[in-house]
Amino acid sequence: MAVILQSLPQEASLTKIEYEGPCIALYSKNPSYLLNNNQLVLNMVNSIKKRIVVRTDESLRLSHHESRKVIGEYIPSEAAIAETFFDDSLGDAVIFAKKPWIILRDGKDVDLSDKTGWRVKIRKAPLNISPIETIFNILNQTAGQRTKFYREVGDKIFRSRLTDQSEASLVTLGGFAEIGRSCVLLVTNESKILLDCGLNPSARESLTAIPRFDIAGISMEDLDGVILSHAHLDHTGFLPALFKYGYRGPVYCTEPTLLLMSVLQRDYLRYCGKDPLYSQQDIDMAVAHTITLLHGIVTDISPDVKLVLYNSGHIIGSTSIHLQIGNGEHNLVYTGDMKFGKTLTLENASWNFPRVETMIIESTYGGKEDVMNPREKAEDDIITLIEKTIASGGHALIPVPAVGISQELIVVLDRFRKAGRLNAQVLIERIISEATAVYEAYPEFLSKDLGQQVFESEISQFGPQFAVVESQTLDSTEPAVVLAPSSMLIGGPSVGYLKQIANDQKSTLVMVSYQSIDTPGRAILEGARQVTICGETLNLQCKVERIEGLVSHSDYNQLMAYVMRLRAKLRRVLVNHGERSKAQNLASMINKQFRIQTQHPLVQEAIKLL
Ligand SMILES: [Zn+2]
Repeated sequence: MAVILQSLPQEASLTKIEYEGPCIALYSKNPSYLLNNNQLVLNMVNSIKKRIVVRTDESLRLSHHESRKVIGEYIPSEAAIAETFFDDSLGDAVIFAKKPWIILRDGKDVDLSDKTGWRVKIRKAPLNISPIETIFNILNQTAGQRTKFYREVGDKIFRSRLTDQSEASLVTLGGFAEIGRSCVLLVTNESKILLDCGLNPSARESLTAIPRFDIAGISMEDLDGVILSHAHLDHTGFLPALFKYGYRGPVYCTEPTLLLMSVLQRDYLRYCGKDPLYSQQDIDMAVAHTITLLHGIVTDISPDVKLVLYNSGHIIGSTSIHLQIGNGEHNLVYTGDMKFGKTLTLENASWNFPRVETMIIESTYGGKEDVMNPREKAEDDIITLIEKTIASGGHALIPVPAVGISQELIVVLDRFRKAGRLNAQVLIERIISEATAVYEAYPEFLSKDLGQQVFESEISQFGPQFAVVESQTLDSTEPAVVLAPSSMLIGGPSVGYLKQIANDQKSTLVMVSYQSIDTPGRAILEGARQVTICGETLNLQCKVERIEGLVSHSDYNQLMAYVMRLRAKLRRVLVNHGERSKAQNLASMINKQFRIQTQHPLVQEAIKLL
């Protein structure tokens, strides 16, 4: 505080300095001064080595209603504002405009802070704004609580260390030698941090469905933070249960992950049957305790752990988690689900970590046989297959996860449609369209090309002509392409559609994504034509085809290429997120080719890092 006060002139009109989670917030009656003198703030960040945010003093803030009026006066109507949301705790006003490029000058947000008392941020309005509205409603209802929460989190992060010595171990709670319920606990002599908190929706018993907190011997109050790599339920599905059982600490992830996990968790509650693991309130509680971060920013999350999130190329907002432990002696990278290869929607996974002694790498496609077709071929294969099915008068059903491969496919199909190669109707299940809204609202997280097109174009790149449906009855006289979850046919809308096309020899079931052991999808992929789903037995007479190369995970070659880039830095590689044989194969190949020590632990193991 002394450094900050000394380095700021009177004009900064500072009214208070407070912790805001991992940042220090400077409240000012003249925020424009600090925003325009960026170098002053940067110098302070350099000298105190902590993140600083500038906030407007609450006394300056106009009411939401008055602010909307002022914003309307200053922002040209051609920008077509769809909605403005306010965050009363942070003092942000977020404007969603259909033509944001009209407002933004040189890519910078408009400074209306002196006129409204709010920091204005500009975003692209998606076709469907409801998932964003849901989050802002929760943020508004919890504004007072959150202000207190941010202060308490800051107090904990910036407390003095108990000892100068550094120790660190990992405890594997889920997602090792298996896929689903990803969860690792990092224990140091100062902190306990959880990486991911997923569930395995296709598991039949609770001992394999959720992370093994029972063996960790910790209570919820002991945890200093939860970091989420991305929104898929096998990485976030159990998070609300932590809040049900009393966790009240911070959750760190990117903004797209926050939005998407809430969409997916709500959807899980709809389809999970009569014994849900948690309630709607627990999901909302998780939202209110989430602190969102950008890629590439060093953030203190406990007295001895610094966190940086890097793009992992898997789905929008997905990250590889980099942790600097102790006095920087040990650096851990947890890749999360990762695509080391460019896709239409996302950039390649980042690999340029300054240091990494231990890496936990996923192995979904870690088997030697898991080498995929190039993307162009996969795109061509799928459109040819769709054309054939449609021409014969059938439906093409593509079971997909709600986030990831769905948006890739939507962009692919949209391009084929614009090029005149796809004339049939395309039906998108509602939950997928909600997830797509996040792709439209966060173009800065997309691949450079697509992000620019999304931001600057009035016409959506995500199939504006496609129909959004909800468990529709298919019209047998009008052939259609249908995208619906669940991707492994364990329940949800895709099963309803499969029942409708099962007896139709003209229709095709198109399998494009990963199928876990013990799921109907896996059985069908391995040749079964009689499957029992949700208690009902289906005899499949429709065609079944598999298209590879569109997946949002690295294939075997991409995993090896990724490790190759990092091999000079690595001391040890731990392989997770893959069936046992795949994890084993990847671990042994990394060891053989790169002479790096590897392990492929099971769930319930402890590994000493430092
Ligand atoms: Zn995933």
